[in-house]
This record gives sequence, C-alpha cells and structure tokens, in this order.
Amino acid sequence: MNLHEYQARALLKAAGIPVPDGEVATTPAEAEAIARRLGGTVVVKAQVHAGGRGKAGGVKLAKDAAEARAHAGRILGMIIKGLTVEKVLVVPAAEIASESYAGVILDRASQRPVFMVSPAGGIDIEEVAAKTPEKILKLGVDPRYGLLPHQAMRLGFFLYRDVAQARPAAVILQQLYRAFVDAGASLAEINPLVTTPGGAVVALDAKIGVDDNELERKPAIAALRDVSAENPAEVKARNAGLSFIKLDGAVGCCVNGAGLAMATMDLVKYYGGEPANFLDIGGSSNPDKVVTALEIITSDPNVKAILFNIFGGITRCDDVANGIVAATSRTKLAVPIVIRLTGTNEERAVQILQQAGFSALTDMDEAVERAVALAGGGA
Ligand code: GDP
Ligand code: MN
Repeated sequence: MNLHEYQARALLKAAGIPVPDGEVATTPAEAEAIARRLGGTVVVKAQVHAGGRGKAGGVKLAKDAAEARAHAGRILGMIIKGLTVEKVLVVPAAEIASESYAGVILDRASQRPVFMVSPAGGIDIEEVAAKTPEKILKLGVDPRYGLLPHQAMRLGFFLYRDVAQARPAAVILQQLYRAFVDAGASLAEINPLVTTPGGAVVALDAKIGVDDNELERKPAIAALRDVSAENPAEVKARNAGLSFIKLDGAVGCCVNGAGLAMATMDLVKYYGGEPANFLDIGGSSNPDKVVTALEIITSDPNVKAILFNIFGGITRCDDVANGIVAATSRTKLAVPIVIRLTGTNEERAVQILQQAGFSALTDMDEAVERAVALAGGGA
C-alpha cells in the first residue's frame, strides 16, 4: 500500500522532521482559500500514488491565491501514470539552494533496512544510479540497533560538506528511520531534501510504501488507505480475496496457487507469449471468485486470450467450471478461452464445461501453447 505525499509528510513531521505545513484541497476554490490563508508563493501538488509528478506537470508554483486556483483547476482530474488526481496539496513554497535525495528501503537481499542518499536529488534516483552511481551512498542498518549516530553523520557528510547542514541532515535521517520502522514501511523517501538559502535543511516531498502484510499490525497506517487512488482492478481483486498484479502482455492468466501462477507465466514466456497479469484465485476457490477473476481479466483491453490453469486439490475443479459458466452466461467473452484443469472433481468439471460448449484440456503445455497462439504470440 502506498501513502499519499500529504499522509507521508504527516508521519515525517510527527517524527520531528522539518516539513512545510500544507493542506489538502479537492476543488480549485478550496486550493485558492488555502493559498490565501498561507499567503505568499505556494506549491500546488497532485496527490497520486506516482513518482515523477513534477515532470508530468503535477507540481506547480503559484505566486498568489488566484494562480493557485488556476493550477489546481488544471491538476485536479489530470491523469498521471494511469491514476486520476482527486486531491491537491497546497504548501508554502520553500526557496531552494540545493536538492538532495534520502531514502531507506527494506532490502531483501541483505535482509535489513538500507539507506540510500545522494547529493544529486530532485530528479529520478534511478537515473542517478544508472549514470553516476558514485553520487549515491548506500548503507545497511542493523535492525537491532537502528541507524547509529556515526552512521547518520557519515550519510550527512556525504550529502553536505558543511557540518552546519550535515548535522541536521543526520538528525533527519535518524528521524526518517524511526518513521520507517513505526509505519512498518518497506520504503520511506525524501526527494528532494533541500537546503534553503538561509542554510536550513527541509523535506519538500515524502513517499512511504507499506507491505500489505504489515497492515494488520498497524491499524493506524491501514486506515490511511485511499481506495479511490488505487488501480480499480487491483482494488476489486483485493476485495474478492484474489492476488492480482497487472502486467503488460496479451495472455490473461487465471490460476490457483501462487507457485502454479508463477510457473504458468514462465511457460507463457517459454512459448513466446507475454502474460497480461498474475492472478491467483487462492486455495478454497468458490464460483464467485472465478466470476470476479474473469471480470477483472476481461476488463483489460490488452487481453487477447484467456488461460485457466487449475490444479485441483482443495480447489475443486467443478467450482471453477461453475464460475466460468456463470461468468460467461452473463456476459459473452470477446476473446478465446483455454481451460486446463486436473485434479479434484475433474470429470464433473469437464461435464459442466462441455454442456456449456467449452472444451477442457488436462495437459499444461498444450493449454499454454494454445493460449499463446490464440493471443497472437509465439512462433
Ligand atoms: P515529484 O516530481 O513527484 O517527485 O514531486 P516533488 O514534490 O519532488 O516536486 C518536484 C520538484 O518540484 C522538486 O524537485 C522541486 O524542484 C520542485 N518543488 C517542489 N516543492 C517546491 C518548493 O517548495 N519550492 C520550489 N522552489 N520548488 C519546489
Ligand atoms: Mn519528489
């Protein structure tokens, strides 16, 4: 789950990090009122779960309230990386002398939080990593001790030569670490962390991502979820208890079990196709889940063929068959479907499907190869 910038800012502020105070608006008139209250130059910022808002035109300076209203009018409703902007944050504009990057992620490879800082901030850190990796310092943290003062100072001095800035930066990094741990985050990032002409170090942007599996332990964080800002297909899948991740290919996959779903995607690639999604309908699937799964898959215009791959164990093949029949009797499929099922209640499932005019395969290779061909991929 991703937090909005304004939510992440509030967490950083609560941890003691200097962050300019702003307010959220959902209409241009509200943005104008906030800008008037703040006085002076403000920044109007799109609140969507996407980076690179600045480049996309979603971050604009406004020298007065009228201009703030005009910017809000353009930014609200804007689509950035497929997500519609429903809210803007209006904050007093800071004067910027330098922009740097500070982030901490949970690194699976080293099994610990790893800090990344760079004096080349403001822009995509991926670009800095690719072109000038020497401008990034990475430092792993032992979770038993947290970010120790000498480590924080080392990071601070990598960002700033002047001790008058390195020291407050080190404090900010320790506060960032605390916010990261308290939120159960897998990522917490400040980009840009700026210095002002007066020499102060201030956070102007904040990004926090939390693993969904952590939310049960962090109800206060879970309450920050903004469903209206998430990918509708992924929301629908989550509500139905399906694990779904959208991908860019043409073969829509519906599989039971994460392992089989991964193997199916591998096989789609092996036969020259590209999966349109990862979708695990789970163990004890009922027909309703299958109906939802099909609705999600068919709502993707890239899907040119659908592949069911079911290994019946706890999942009963006849449940899946009933789901397929129920879903397709409501709305006729616009793309071909290939069904492979084997295991529990397989014979019953084949009967149900044949009565409804579908055929079913039992061989996984054959099914995947056929689906790839029908989707127009492969040799
Ligand atoms: P992002 O593009 O989604 O990462 O959005 P940011 O919040 O990082 O803003 C993008 C850029 O806008 C920053 O790198 C700054 O250059 C600029 N910006 C953001 N806030 C301010 C501000 O308060 N004052 C000034 N002068 N520029 C700002
Ligand atoms: Mn940023």
